[in-house]
Amino acid sequence: MPIATTNPATGQVLKTYDPMSNEQIDAAIERADLAFRDLHRTTVAQRAQWMNAAADLLDAERDDTARLMTTEMGKTYAAAQAEVTKCATACRFYAANAERMLADEPADAKAVKAKRAFVRYQPIGPVLAVMPWNFPLWQVMRFAAPALTAGNTGLLKHASNVPQTALYLEDVFRRAGFPEGAFSTLLVGSEAVDRILSDPRVRAATLTGSETAGRSIAQIAGREVKKTVLELGGSDPFVVMPSADLDRAAEVATTARCQNNGQSCIAAKRFIVHTDVFDAFAEKFAANMAALKVGDPMDGSTDVGPLASEHGRDEVHAQVQDAVDQGATVLCGGEKPAGDGWYYPPTVVTDLTPQMRMWSEEVFGPVAGLYRVSSYDEAIEVANGTTFGLGSNAWTTDPAEQERFATDLDAGNVFINGMTTSFPELPFGGVKNSGYGRELSAFGMREFCNTKTVWVG
Ligand code: NAP
Repeated sequence: MPIATTNPATGQVLKTYDPMSNEQIDAAIERADLAFRDLHRTTVAQRAQWMNAAADLLDAERDDTARLMTTEMGKTYAAAQAEVTKCATACRFYAANAERMLADEPADAKAVKAKRAFVRYQPIGPVLAVMPWNFPLWQVMRFAAPALTAGNTGLLKHASNVPQTALYLEDVFRRAGFPEGAFSTLLVGSEAVDRILSDPRVRAATLTGSETAGRSIAQIAGREVKKTVLELGGSDPFVVMPSADLDRAAEVATTARCQNNGQSCIAAKRFIVHTDVFDAFAEKFAANMAALKVGDPMDGSTDVGPLASEHGRDEVHAQVQDAVDQGATVLCGGEKPAGDGWYYPPTVVTDLTPQMRMWSEEVFGPVAGLYRVSSYDEAIEVANGTTFGLGSNAWTTDPAEQERFATDLDAGNVFINGMTTSFPELPFGGVKNSGYGRELSAFGMREFCNTKTVWVG
């Protein structure tokens, strides 16, 4: 993939970059290694101060940064503004809580026959972050805010279609006061990842992206015996039971499916509805989806902007077409629009069967699969019946059923009567082919720490 900014609303290539040479990559790794030697000796309070300064810059520069993201990947300007604000919040969260999260944890000295025993969390060194374009600022910040506050340094290989947002991130951390080399952007294609991760100075990697990229990075890291966190794809279930508030469920379902123009790993993608309320829910949901305004992402009245790439849109349409060819029913949308820009209409497809691609694959666009089930057990079977396990949603006002869903949904998170989202306060990640490891909260901060046992006799 060329490293370039291409506006998805027009298809116009706006700026291209030459990939960095091996010498430039080596120099950046060297800077990250040298910076680590300084950074990990600074106090948490000092790093927190820099992280707060980064938050202030993000807030002050919100609108320009949002415009840049919208231009590079097509999310609505309002969504991009909210993303910048969320990043500033995460920076402040780690600035405020790092001291507590990184504090020594005393152990029962008597039980381990010591005078004193405790656990100390220490940074490990330069970490490679391979990131996707869909939340170009947030995905990176989810890694960088905890990792840098813990004293690690970061090397960012961002998606090739968001180079300017990638360069902005490096610039923000530098201007916030972090030492030279603490956070560097490498403008490289995915073929450079093997070389970078094989470098002995790079101690670990985190990837947010597709399953294919995850398998590739896990293989390299396995060979090199390096820690990885993998945040991969998802096909989240959204289960609606008879006791649910149907109006609210249909409203949130629409947002949950079409947020970020349908390109979110934790978007609800499969809507699994009890037969007692299926027809009523389907009618409300399809009406809501059809009412969304598709158009220019800079226009404040737009709900759904273009998909990020032509290839992405072709793939989504091929998945819908495959279902239709095999007998599925389209309740709304399903037609690829003519004209400039990679737009796709909010679409609801039902009468799906396991032979169809939509049954088992992730659909990365505003397309919902609607499934009818006749019992709780069948709902769980369909919900858990994919190789993914990232987020999940269940709608029920029955407390006993809420408890059962919390246990039975095989996913990294369960949201009852609400939309899956990420908060700095809560761990985020998946099971099965959605990956492993956790981001955010203290769990995310400690992924790239040496959990060191100290025993004093
Ligand atoms: P992608 O193609 O895997 O790209 C993500 C990043 O990985 C990019 O920087 C890409 O570089 C790089 N990459 C691709 N193939 C690679 C390989 N073989 N080796 C090393 N690096 C490689 O994913 P995407 O299409 O941009 O993003 C969509 C996917 O990400 C979806 O599956 C979505 O669900 C998932 N996602 C997961 C989460 C989560 O938190 N679990 C969050 C967001 C997205 P290039 O751009 O240069 O190809």
